[in-house]
Amino acid sequence: MLMKSQSSNVRKALAVSPAQPTMEGAGVRLKRAFGAVDPRLDPFLMLDDFSSRDPADYEAGFPEHPHRGMETVTYIISGQVDHRDSLGNSGTIRSGEVQWMTAGSGIIHAEMPRETWERLCGVQLWVNLPRESKMMTPRYRDIREEDIPVVEPSPGIRVKVIAGTFDGAVGPVKDVVVKILYLDVAMGPNTEFRHDIPGQFNAFAYVVQGDADFGGSTAGRQQLVVLGKGEEVQVRSGEKGARFILAAGQPIGEPVAWRGPVVMNTEGELKEAFREMREGTFVKTDPLR
Ligand code: MN
Repeated sequence: MLMKSQSSNVRKALAVSPAQPTMEGAGVRLKRAFGAVDPRLDPFLMLDDFSSRDPADYEAGFPEHPHRGMETVTYIISGQVDHRDSLGNSGTIRSGEVQWMTAGSGIIHAEMPRETWERLCGVQLWVNLPRESKMMTPRYRDIREEDIPVVEPSPGIRVKVIAGTFDGAVGPVKDVVVKILYLDVAMGPNTEFRHDIPGQFNAFAYVVQGDADFGGSTAGRQQLVVLGKGEEVQVRSGEKGARFILAAGQPIGEPVAWRGPVVMNTEGELKEAFREMREGTFVKTDPLR
C-alpha cells in the first residue's frame, strides 16, 4: 500500500548563509544576502540589507545612479529613506512603507537614508524582468503602511502581505512583471507557520530578528535560507520568536547579462546601456516636471 508522506511536499532548506558585508552607493556599509545569478533564486537577483544602528554606516547614501532591465522592491521596516528619480518623483519612504520601482528602459534615481530617532532597518530586493519587458516604460510607486494587509493566521503569528496572496489577503505590490509572493512574517516564541507556495516558484527566507527552523535547518538574524522544491513552507520559531521575509517567484529561465545597475540578456545589450550612459541617452522617458 502506498502511503503519501505528509512531509513530501515540504520545502527543505538547501542552504543557510549569513549576509555578507558590502560597500555600495557613496560608501554605505550594508549586508548582502545574495547578489549573483543563481538558478535556485531566479527571478530574484539580489537582496541587500541596509539595517544599521550607526548613521555613519548609511549617511553617504545612494546619490543619483542609473538602473535598467530590472525591478526593485524596497521595504523600510523602520527609519526613513528620501527618494527622487528621473520620472519626476520625490518623497520619503517611512517605517512600514514599501517603494516599488520598475527600472525598465532606464531610470536615474537617488536613495538617501535619513538619520532619525529610529534605528534604520530595511531591505531591497531586485526582481529580474523577462526579455520582453526589459525596455518597458519605467514606473514607480510608494505604498503606505495602511495599504499593506496584516493577517493573523494563528495565535502568535502576524503576516504583512506585501505582494501575492496570503489567506485571502492580497498585497498592494501587484504589478511586478513576474509573479511574486513577498511576506513579512513575525512569530512569537515556539510557534509554527505553514504556507503553500506554487511548486514551480523558487523561494527564500531572510531572517530579520530571532531564529527559526526552516524545513530542517535553523537560521538566525541576517541569514538567508534558500528553500528547495516543494510546496509547503514550514517554519518553527525558537525561544525568542522570529521575524523574517518570505519571498517566492516564478522563475524566468533566460540568460542573464548583469553589470552593476544594469541587468539584460546579452553582453551586447549591456554595452549599449553603458554607451548610452556615456552619451547621455540612457533615460528614454521625459521627466514629468
Ligand atoms: Mn538604486
